[in-house]
Amino acid sequence: MQGEPEVAVVRLAHRPGRDDRMTTHVGLTARALGADRVIYPDNADQSRQTVEDITGRFGGPFEVELVESTKSVVRNWDGNVAHLTMYGERVQDVEDEIRASRDEDDEPLLVVVGSEKVPFDIYEAADWNVAVTNQPHSEVAGLAVFLDHVFDGRELDREWEDAESTVVPKATGKKVVPADGEDGNPTDE
Ligand code: SAM
Repeated sequence: MQGEPEVAVVRLAHRPGRDDRMTTHVGLTARALGADRVIYPDNADQSRQTVEDITGRFGGPFEVELVESTKSVVRNWDGNVAHLTMYGERVQDVEDEIRASRDEDDEPLLVVVGSEKVPFDIYEAADWNVAVTNQPHSEVAGLAVFLDHVFDGRELDREWEDAESTVVPKATGKKVVPADGEDGNPTDE
């Protein structure tokens, strides 16, 4: 988020077909919940396009990057690395330390999420292996809860720039207006 050390999310691997929605949702969740950038393996171009389309419509800043080797991104990251895994330390036990690395030491954070089996060198490269419960679930759920803990809820009030459209919160129904307009026609976005 603006004014804070960078948070990037890397999707370690992508299996075309099987992982399409999950890989896209990792990017959409990273964007919506306060990360600055998602890094995808270079076979995830479809997910890149979708996340960039959403950023164009609903605002940023948010970057999407394709790389040849996500493992090199982890190895060469200039900052701290948190790898999300059900086998790790409990998020509630390490979140203070992670927040301090950002607030006090101004360190950027790379958040690693897996898809298929994660190689052991990723566990070793991480500053923290973090579990959002020690139960198996999903990279999207793990990422959402983790980011909310890192940002302590601030991400929910994030302001968006350069949006084409804004959703007007409503108790019932759907209303989407042009971002810079006073009002607009309700749509079924
Ligand atoms: N079978 C793979 C393995 O053994 O490494 C993991 C499959 S899991 C569906 C995909 C990803 O979801 C994991 O790599 C991890 O990033 C995330 N994940 C699943 N459960 C999690 C949990 N309880 N806490 C944190 N992350 C979790």
